[in-house]
Amino acid sequence: MPPSKETETMSTTTTHLQPKPIPALYTVYILRSQPRHASLYIGSTPNPPRRLSQHNGLAKGGAYRTSKKSLRPWDMVCLVSGFPSMIAALKFEWALNNPHKSLLIPADKRAEAVKGLGRRKTGHLKRSRKSLVGVMEALRMLLAVKSFGRWGLRVHFFEEEVWRVWERGGKKDDGELQVEVVTDFGGPRPPQGVGVDGVGLEADGDDDDDDDDDAQDEKKHGIYALPLDYMPIKEYVAKGQAILEFERQGNCVVCQEAMEGVRGLYAICPNTGCEAVGHLDCWSRCLLKQEAKREGSGGGDEILPVKGECPKCQSQVLWRDMMKELTLRTRGQADVDKLLKRKRTRAAAKAKAKGKEKADEKGTNAGEGNSRRKREVKTTPQPMMVEDSEASEDSEFLDIAYL
Ligand SMILES: [Zn+2]
Ligand SMILES: [Zn+2]
Repeated sequence: MPPSKETETMSTTTTHLQPKPIPALYTVYILRSQPRHASLYIGSTPNPPRRLSQHNGLAKGGAYRTSKKSLRPWDMVCLVSGFPSMIAALKFEWALNNPHKSLLIPADKRAEAVKGLGRRKTGHLKRSRKSLVGVMEALRMLLAVKSFGRWGLRVHFFEEEVWRVWERGGKKDDGELQVEVVTDFGGPRPPQGVGVDGVGLEADGDDDDDDDDDAQDEKKHGIYALPLDYMPIKEYVAKGQAILEFERQGNCVVCQEAMEGVRGLYAICPNTGCEAVGHLDCWSRCLLKQEAKREGSGGGDEILPVKGECPKCQSQVLWRDMMKELTLRTRGQADVDKLLKRKRTRAAAKAKAKGKEKADEKGTNAGEGNSRRKREVKTTPQPMMVEDSEASEDSEFLDIAYL
């Protein structure tokens, strides 16, 4: 018997895991032209420093609209971080670029956004002439939209002047917007002497960049201080691995029932020293109940908690952190191994060696082939949306990520 529609949906939300963990970082950013402040550009990326160097022509793969020499260099003046997937960031990016079209924004506010656009002689709406005030207003509107608001996004400002425009917009706000705002005006500039002669900031293209730049961490500011990898949750990830590896999970911290083996979606308290583990559904219900209590309501129609208190250690937990660890644990084994610098298992190493032997027999050098391919990927000019090429793979992600 084929599964009913309902069973299918259920399985997506509970047991069927999507292939990718929540990314370490995914951002929607606003660029402003240094020589011409009126020129703005909105995009999305998992790696702001690399993307900025592309826009500025210091690395291959910039966008056509930012390629004009007279508008360069561009500064990344503001960005929003904390997107649970690339798709989520793309949705936000699109809505920020098209606030007058986004159905997520209430109709009356959309009409306001249209007013600001003006019309061409043909009667068509002018597109893409954005003012900073307009973009900041759209940003506020979007962050107030429930589906975006509950992701626990964070807004970063790297130019004081831009932050002031944002702040001014807040004065007429109805106070409903709950978003974390981070400012860093400490000089969001690349380190001197890097990124010249057509060589990008990330010219080495090396994925293993977590060893060499620790020493420079204290000098980093602005977008260069953003964590591009899972380093900030390393301890948390290690704790999760240890608990489940040694089957220390015990009973669900919420319903008190035993949790079988390491299978199933268990969420773990992120707080240091606390080993509270619970069924995903139980955690969610528990935190939503607390939320309803805080707001003095009988419980809304929300399905995603934002934050709450761990029933065991009584300290605050953020749902987005818990989901990051959970998805990393269940879908990102390679990322976990890299983060914890684990050695490959002997079986995997053996399999790899065998594969290499085979390749050598055929007269090719697997190692060399790989590195050549890597180089090619790096130097191919990328169309603007190249970072989105995995979009289809990721498209179902939201179904589970936040349930
Ligand atoms: Zn439970
Ligand atoms: Zn706890």
